[in-house]
Amino acid sequence: MVGKLNIAIIGCGPGGLAAALFLNRQGHAITIFDQFSEPLPVGSGLLIQPSGQLVLEQLGLLDRIRALASPVQQLHGISVEKNRRALDMQYAYSSDARPALGIHRASLFSVLLNEVKEAAIPVVANSKLTGMDETQVSIAPVFEGGLVQATFDCLIDASGARSPVAGGQVKRLDYGAFWATVDVPEKYEILPAALDQRYFRASQMAGIMPIGLNPATGNPGAALFWSEKPENADELIASGIDAFRQNYCDLWPAAEPFVSQLQSIEELNLAVYHHRTGLPSSSNRLFYIGDSWHCTSPQLGQGANMALIDAAALAKALEQSSSLSIARKKYRKARMRHIKLYQVLSIIFTPLYQSDSRIKPWIRDMVIHNFARWPIIRNFIAKTVSGRLFLSP
Ligand SMILES: Cc1cc2nc3c(=O)[nH]c(=O)nc-3n(C[C@H](O)[C@H](O)[C@H](O)COP(=O)(O)OP(=O)(O)OC[C@H]3O[C@@H](n4cnc5c(N)ncnc54)[C@H](O)[C@@H]3O)c2cc1C
Repeated sequence: MVGKLNIAIIGCGPGGLAAALFLNRQGHAITIFDQFSEPLPVGSGLLIQPSGQLVLEQLGLLDRIRALASPVQQLHGISVEKNRRALDMQYAYSSDARPALGIHRASLFSVLLNEVKEAAIPVVANSKLTGMDETQVSIAPVFEGGLVQATFDCLIDASGARSPVAGGQVKRLDYGAFWATVDVPEKYEILPAALDQRYFRASQMAGIMPIGLNPATGNPGAALFWSEKPENADELIASGIDAFRQNYCDLWPAAEPFVSQLQSIEELNLAVYHHRTGLPSSSNRLFYIGDSWHCTSPQLGQGANMALIDAAALAKALEQSSSLSIARKKYRKARMRHIKLYQVLSIIFTPLYQSDSRIKPWIRDMVIHNFARWPIIRNFIAKTVSGRLFLSP
């Protein structure tokens, strides 16, 4: 093992918090820095795939997460133009048949952060990373205003898609989405344990998925989203909540009991999506995890899971290495194939669901969906969505 290290982690997302827990348990001294005055998760729901659940299991947190989440057995979608099923992926087709977990971001965050607090790992707020100073023997994060608080043996950049120190170009994707959290209504007619979607070609997409506890109400919750181009966001906001509800229900009438709960356009949050495949760090003292290394559209539901997997892989590499340089190589080797595969899949699949193309949604509905009914392909797709293809043990 490399010996006991003094490690700075930048970012309180799932990647940073999980890395802090793994490395603290190995005996390293950890300090987490985040830009927020009070660390808070932004957004609505996410899917924890079987791959991410394995990491939470290693941390001993899966039962707590499960208690706050909803099992999601299926990804399902209908193309409304011809009322044709365009997506039907069931987790039961994967080898261990483990469902995904739909969860509110705040629930995942609170379980990880509570564990960090219990381990007495310091979280330093109001610390916006702007750069770093590296020497032969140490590395120091530089915060807004040129502030350098301390030096460390290594720095883990878990600051997400807009990392100021990560390499590679970040591309903003044409489509993002408006997200909101609502309660699961008493009566409704959409699939209960599914991420269910409706598409008009690929230019309109509405989706709903169960996310366990709605932290705002304490009731069973659901995330709903509406695909939109960021440049059209102001127009959508200006047209008001009645128009939003109408458009949503025009595409998907059965969603009415969910959408009708929205009382104000302010309840919707716009998420802008990015794509980046950065190079792995070339410094022995700087490690990237999660979105700072590789971010994609959430269409495949892998980003938070990949961040958790990175955290586990980095901790394992440090534990099994006699120097930071060996750890860097081991970490890279453990993660590269998996990351590359999912980055490519995201580039291929995202435009089938979010783009102005007319050909790509046709390929989605007529070719891919029909092909995906063959048992061998169906099982392969289930394994892929579970996040377990090319995943190093
Ligand atoms: C709408 C939406 C839906 C999604 N759905 C899914 C899903 O279903 N499944 C899934 O796996 N993934 C999903 N994702 C992707 C997932 O949210 C991200 O991949 C994941 O959060 C990345 O985790 P991270 O720890 O790398 O970074 P983040 O979660 O982005 O956390 C970064 C942290 O760093 C802090 N920070 C940022 N910049 C600085 C700075 N300069 N200095 C200090 N601190 C900084 C931030 O405040 C934040 O706390 C979704 C994303 C979006 C936007």
